[in-house]
Amino acid sequence: MSAASYVQSILTTLKQRDPNQPEFFEAASALLKTITPVLEKHPEYMKANILGRIVEPERAIQFAIPWQDDKGQIQINRGFRVQFNSAIGPYKGGLRLHPSVNLSIVKFLGFEQIFKNSLTTLPIGGAKGGADFDPKGKSNAEVMRFCQSFMTELSKYIGPDLDVPAGDIGVGAREIGYLYGQYKRLKGAQRGVLTGKGLSYGGSLARTEATGYGLIYYTDELLKANGESLAGKRAVISGAGNVAIYATQKAEELGVKVITVSDSNGYIVDENGIDVAVVKQIKEVERGRIKAYADRVADSHYYEGSVWDADLQYDLALPCATQNEIDGTQAARFKAAGVIAVAEGANMPSDPEAITAYTDAGILYGPAKAANAGGVAVSALEMSQNSRRLSDSFEKVDGQLHDIMQHIFKASADAAAEYGMAGDYEAGANIAGFLKVADAMYYQGMKVYLDIN
Ligand code: GLU
Repeated sequence: MSAASYVQSILTTLKQRDPNQPEFFEAASALLKTITPVLEKHPEYMKANILGRIVEPERAIQFAIPWQDDKGQIQINRGFRVQFNSAIGPYKGGLRLHPSVNLSIVKFLGFEQIFKNSLTTLPIGGAKGGADFDPKGKSNAEVMRFCQSFMTELSKYIGPDLDVPAGDIGVGAREIGYLYGQYKRLKGAQRGVLTGKGLSYGGSLARTEATGYGLIYYTDELLKANGESLAGKRAVISGAGNVAIYATQKAEELGVKVITVSDSNGYIVDENGIDVAVVKQIKEVERGRIKAYADRVADSHYYEGSVWDADLQYDLALPCATQNEIDGTQAARFKAAGVIAVAEGANMPSDPEAITAYTDAGILYGPAKAANAGGVAVSALEMSQNSRRLSDSFEKVDGQLHDIMQHIFKASADAAAEYGMAGDYEAGANIAGFLKVADAMYYQGMKVYLDIN
């Protein structure tokens, strides 16, 4: 069988088996389609059916999360942990709390995490989890009771050498604190079982900033490799969560004018450059909506709808909100808007038509699994600090993050060139991430059961 028909057969089976998992299918087919040249060079991976095995989670857990709201009513949510691949290290990946969470979303995120984590060069496997709980409008006490119930079940499946969850959309320092406290109560031990912890109980400096800072370090490399630089550029950033906030902060520090931030209702345009302190106050302290920015900052404006439909001129598109936030029609307008590069802070924010539109327009494209790997990279550094029972300085961790992002860009660019696709940083990231995992799976052999009859 040729490599191309092998890839096709895996995708066909995948679609037949799980026809109702569109996000997972989108992520899997985007990766598999760029892997064909690797299989031509490594037929042993086909023989060992590495692709058939890599698209199947090693374990997918679904559980009930009952909790009591402030009115005394009993609520029920659905929780997930998908432990996708442990070939190169313990399962690692965030927990997402959002009403859209279902098995397809968690599988797409877990699948992406395998290759992202591999790209960091650190020894971490891929996983993801979460629940269809909506933290919006909930009191602290409700969030705490929910997190405690979530961890009561999750604690059975995680551990410092087994699976180490962290934050994602809807899970920040507050939620990690409640989850960690409950784990400790249940197990009677302090263990480095979550990352993104508070600094007073084993967290790492620079973890909060890591995904956003890492995105800008990556974008810097992407531009430099193509004869451009960050200074003086105008950027549109979507989102107003942890990734967007720290991407804005680092971009502005390096001379970029960030003109937007957004949430699921609308977006702010501030031609003077987003005032990140105001965004932090609204989102991190008040847990409010981004609309409030326009009431506080002179000459800024709030508009309803998607920021990707805004009529603006800018150089850099940095989607930091959520999956499939940019479609083909929106992406087709980027060239005329002046966009030279897209780098993804969110996971899979560009749908397949959008990615095709970037390529057709000659726009540089930095895919999520490379561009946003800084968060999980610093999570792995947090795990290492916990094992050593030491904490490193902000400068040390930030320096390591910078080195890792430079490495990720170079490894992706080199892999793309080696396989005859120079400048295709998506194919390069997929190939570089895949090779290490495939190699580890190949040399570890398969799980087989002895016939005892
Ligand atoms: N949720 C983040 C991501 O998408 C971070 C995961 C982690 O730190 O484990 O990579």
